[in-house]
Amino acid sequence: MKHMKLYKSLLAALCLSIGLYFVYSWLTNAPDIIVESKNITEIYTYIKPNEYNKDLLVIFDIDNTIAKPPTNLGSDQWFYAMKKKLEEIGKSDQESIDLLLPHYIQIQHHTWLIPVEKDTVQVINNLQKKGVSVIALTARSLELTQRTIEQLHHLGIYFTKTDPHECPLKYGDKKPGLYIDGIIFSGNYDKGEMLVNWFKQIKYRPKKIIFIDDKLKNIHSVEKALHNRDYPFIGIRYGYTDEQARNFSLESIADEQKQFFTEHPFVKPLLVP
Ligand SMILES: [Mg+2]
Repeated sequence: MKHMKLYKSLLAALCLSIGLYFVYSWLTNAPDIIVESKNITEIYTYIKPNEYNKDLLVIFDIDNTIAKPPTNLGSDQWFYAMKKKLEEIGKSDQESIDLLLPHYIQIQHHTWLIPVEKDTVQVINNLQKKGVSVIALTARSLELTQRTIEQLHHLGIYFTKTDPHECPLKYGDKKPGLYIDGIIFSGNYDKGEMLVNWFKQIKYRPKKIIFIDDKLKNIHSVEKALHNRDYPFIGIRYGYTDEQARNFSLESIADEQKQFFTEHPFVKPLLVP
């Protein structure tokens, strides 16, 4: 009888603890906000006057969010259209990437980027000037680390100004992702996975995150990876370059592409006709 009473008390305590845990989770898990935007300056709408400090982390994607090549050659839309073409002739996802990457890198090494909008560079500099932590999170791979940093410096963008961690850090083994100079190069890895792992490595805990990227899948990836946190996450799906990307065709760039690889010969010829 005595044991039964104890058992009931323990059971009641357990139920109460579980209940309290759910109430606590419900109260502390901040809701996610995902919005669409076509202008980089709209980022200010999501920052309260008292949030301009290092506890706010603003994360920028690079390609088609802050910068793009002056023509479609070497652009994001060029890469994915070429990849699709390779897949149509029977190459797998990874084979297509492996075949394309050296050509993409070759173009980047001979191309300076331009800002996506006239206000892009100023917005980044302004956030940094106000003490906000600012980093970039790109799917570009390891081989393009130094060249990407050069391309951004050429635009007047330095992610080292207010990044929360100075030393380079890698993630993964075979072909690792890399954090260097305020930029996370996720390469083969999921953007969310890469970001969360970096937070863990440097024991970083912002009070609010704003992430801006032209691809909704990246916004969802980061949102998913950051679940169960107690600070707000705002994902901005950025659409300034949507129309340019939508209207792009490989035919429209065929001559320029041919001329580029004639002027900058590549060891192996392009495998796509
Ligand atoms: Mg992008």
